[in-house]
Amino acid sequence: MKITIALAGNPNAGKTTLFNELTGARQHVGNYPGVTVEKKEGIYLHDGYQLRIVDLPGTYSLTAYSVEEVVARDFLVNEKPEIIVNIVDASNLERNLYLSLQFLERGIPVCIALNMIDVAKSRGIEIKSEKLSELLGVPVVPIIARIGYGKHDLMKTAARVAEEKIRQKPLQISYGDDLDRVLQEMEKEIISGNFLTDTYPARWIALKYLENDELILSKGSTANPELSEKLTGMMRSVTAHLEDTMDTYPEAMLADYRYGYIHSIVRKGVIRRKDDENRLYTSDKIDRIVTHRFLGPLIMLAVLAGLYQFTFTYSEVPVGWFEAFFSWLSDTVSTAMDNGFLKSLIVSGIIDGVGGVLGFVPLIMFMFFGIALLEDSGYFARVAFMMDRIFRIFGLHGSSAMAYILSGGIAGGCAVPGVMATRTLKSTRERMATLLTVPFMNCGAKLPLLALLTGTFFGKNKALLMLILTLVSWAGALLVAKFLRLTIIRGSATPFVMELPPYRFPTFKGLAIHTWERTWQYIQKAGTVILGISVIIWAMMTFPGLPEKEAQKFEQQRESLQTSLAHANSPSEAEHIKELLQDIDSEAAKARLRNSLAGRIGTFMESITRFAGFDWRINIALLGGFAAKEVLVSALGTAYSLGETEAESGKSLSETLAKSPNWSPLLALSLIIFTMFYAPCFVAVVCIIREAGSWKWGLFSMVFNTLLAFGLAVLVFQIGSVMGY
Ligand code: GDP
Ligand code: MG
Repeated sequence: MKITIALAGNPNAGKTTLFNELTGARQHVGNYPGVTVEKKEGIYLHDGYQLRIVDLPGTYSLTAYSVEEVVARDFLVNEKPEIIVNIVDASNLERNLYLSLQFLERGIPVCIALNMIDVAKSRGIEIKSEKLSELLGVPVVPIIARIGYGKHDLMKTAARVAEEKIRQKPLQISYGDDLDRVLQEMEKEIISGNFLTDTYPARWIALKYLENDELILSKGSTANPELSEKLTGMMRSVTAHLEDTMDTYPEAMLADYRYGYIHSIVRKGVIRRKDDENRLYTSDKIDRIVTHRFLGPLIMLAVLAGLYQFTFTYSEVPVGWFEAFFSWLSDTVSTAMDNGFLKSLIVSGIIDGVGGVLGFVPLIMFMFFGIALLEDSGYFARVAFMMDRIFRIFGLHGSSAMAYILSGGIAGGCAVPGVMATRTLKSTRERMATLLTVPFMNCGAKLPLLALLTGTFFGKNKALLMLILTLVSWAGALLVAKFLRLTIIRGSATPFVMELPPYRFPTFKGLAIHTWERTWQYIQKAGTVILGISVIIWAMMTFPGLPEKEAQKFEQQRESLQTSLAHANSPSEAEHIKELLQDIDSEAAKARLRNSLAGRIGTFMESITRFAGFDWRINIALLGGFAAKEVLVSALGTAYSLGETEAESGKSLSETLAKSPNWSPLLALSLIIFTMFYAPCFVAVVCIIREAGSWKWGLFSMVFNTLLAFGLAVLVFQIGSVMGY
């Protein structure tokens, strides 16, 4: 007989630890956004049984707010595990039982694994597992997952429950007069309509309608639109009633009663404390200082400053090595190959494009190491906790701050990990609003252009200007988030209590794995997406080249100059002719670029972009920047160095721009604003699509951001022009 056992529990309750103990699978312990969303399976042999064990993602609840919760729920419905082993952290019993209660309400056979009794004991807490078992009506087995204590007992109990097919009657909790009454009515409708009852218990369906559970609502309206509409109507009227009478709404009320139920159970002699109730544990003691009203933010600033100091300063040397390697490679290949398209493709398209990105690998590694350190130790949860109050005003969540910071909210970063970090957000709406505003941060790839422009046109106070730009990006992101939360992703904030996990000493192995996994993702991006994009951009800036006639004209001019050079009478004349030759070359390059596909598109777009002051060369760079923001400076550099009629080698892009007649501080400002807010890069868009679950959000983010950016840039440029700048 084969039995499937699903391990379920809150994040950090010890699921993975137990899973490893049971199956011996080599797998890492710890958690970061998204890892447990992958399904992990293993086999445990017991008395001739094969127990198939599945590690479900950690969840606090079974609502449909987060990806993890949806994954866990789908698993229960689709794979119908014989039993759920619900791992409960004994040192945090009440909070953990909230999830247990939902399994019980759902009527699935459950066996509770009371984990971390060692931690509980060290805190002076003793839990009477028999008493808890009696009150909840399910087996409770005390274990210490870390050392495997109690695991055989647990599996024996689980197998017994599964084998005997002990049917669990769904638990019925009273939710107070108003809700109980409507629940009963809804149940009646559901049962008589045979509404989804093949899959779920009737009362559970009614509860989900009260909770406004999107997944069940959509299932319901497909199964029986009329009845679904009727149930929704009932939900609306009780919602309105609760709002009037108690200034609350069903979901909050349900949560209150569930906690109340748990509290009452726990108080019936389940927990016995040795010391007084208010004893502070180490974590709490640390938190008294670290999340202190005034000290907390100061410590946070210091920690973040430290993180960036560590990332940007210490990585400089290895980044230098990488860059040196790639320029050596580029030089070597350049001398080894004959001139032609193939060489141009390999050197300009591949090595310079991909190398430019791979050069940052050490920086990325340092950054992820620092972030893994703060994350694994539990500090990042505190940052989110402190930011929560401010972020709620804008319809976001404290964890959104984390995503912002990862995306470059302080200095450098990348929208891709930022977008992925939104997985930690519980509510779909807050998650979407974060997802869509994360790209406004000044990521590491935008920084070079911002630094170049501020340095060239606003001179002296570069640090201050960059600080202002950072503040502008935050203000922009928060305001747009607020706008989105008031319009297309409207809806009340999710009731979610922020959990502060205890501080832990990160293990070196854990840090190394986290750092490497993320760095590897970045390398893969460079090797695949960026490689493709570099080649495409190179081709767009190279083909179709000049028309035959024009190319010949340049060639003739060149030849005649070469002839005069050979017959030059004096060194100064030769020098002069050489200069003329250079002019011809850059003239030809400019003509070639302008005639290339990219050049034509850029020129075509001028009719619109001139309102923001952008000429065709800027347009090329901006188009390239959509592929990857890293391309912004390099494409601008190529376009301008090729475009200057008096191209003198050795002149920096900054000097070129400063001398260029169509550039002004106003144009620079307009371009800075546009760069900060326009469409996220291609990879970020792909991530947004993946995380949001629909290509429409990717499209939205591209169109909306570009329109917003363009509107702002035009505003700046036009007002500035009128004012005479
Ligand atoms: P998951 O998020 O539920 O998968 O939790 P993990 O298995 O990653 O465990 C979270 C942390 O708790 C890890 O650092 C474990 O080493 C630790 N842990 C798990 N079980 C026990 C236990 O019984 N006692 C103690 N002291 N620590 C435990
Ligand atoms: Mg885990």
